[in-house]
Amino acid sequence: MAALTRLLKPSSISFLFTRSLSTTTTAAAVISDIESEHPNFSDPKSSRNFQWVFLGCPGVGKGTYASRLSNLLGVPHIATGDLVREELSSSGPLSHQLAEIVNQGKLVSDEIIFNLLSKRLEVGESKGESGFILDGFPRTIRQAEILDEVTEIDLVVNLKLREDVLVEKCLGRRICSQCGKGFNVASINAKAENGRPGMSMAPLLPPQHCASKLITRADDTEQVVKERLRVYYEKSQPVEDFYKSQGKLMEFDLPGGIPESWPKLLEALNLDDYEVKRSAVA
Ligand SMILES: [Zn+2]
Repeated sequence: MAALTRLLKPSSISFLFTRSLSTTTTAAAVISDIESEHPNFSDPKSSRNFQWVFLGCPGVGKGTYASRLSNLLGVPHIATGDLVREELSSSGPLSHQLAEIVNQGKLVSDEIIFNLLSKRLEVGESKGESGFILDGFPRTIRQAEILDEVTEIDLVVNLKLREDVLVEKCLGRRICSQCGKGFNVASINAKAENGRPGMSMAPLLPPQHCASKLITRADDTEQVVKERLRVYYEKSQPVEDFYKSQGKLMEFDLPGGIPESWPKLLEALNLDDYEVKRSAVA
């Protein structure tokens, strides 16, 4: 609790916020801030077992796979968007400032994200969590460099999907305007070409009571989806190169939907008999 109390003291928060106003703050300066605020996380010799990062472009389904793996491995699935939402809905010390940033349509700075993430990891460690799966983070090389100093990442899984399939999948997304559940009406049957295998993905159709209430997100148009991908690739390439140079990057081409991809992913991660091993131990 001492660590938390220290974390939440108002002076350190206003300090972080002052720093976050400057976009020219170097990664080294941020790292030294984090080290002074979160001393436990400058120690790379952590006892955690799985310290993984999941990368992948919007729409690839990384949240789904990260969440399934987190259930399998018994480690938390941490998406920074969720951390921001949780802080916003709590009466936490950052919630007021965060609300202001979000209401003004501004991007939440790396400094705030790292503050929330370090806090989350410290709480997890004190509860005996044996690792984590970070979802969609780091997004930029600067974030990757800071994360590298804050904690040790042992594996980075980069999920990839044929771009034509990805676009079709994004265009098939629908949300029920009543219950808010997400569905996908795209029935994908991509032909094999240029040495790429064919691929089929079944739609995720809504139950009858949702079917007449489906809406499409305004930003799920072909033009917006393609632009989103372009921006993603531009930012993620240096992140991928960074982890590749450390020998931590595992590229994984999704062979289809969840039923085809999940067993293949477990195989690639050497976890195909993990459930069996774990239950044998238990
Ligand atoms: Zn519904």
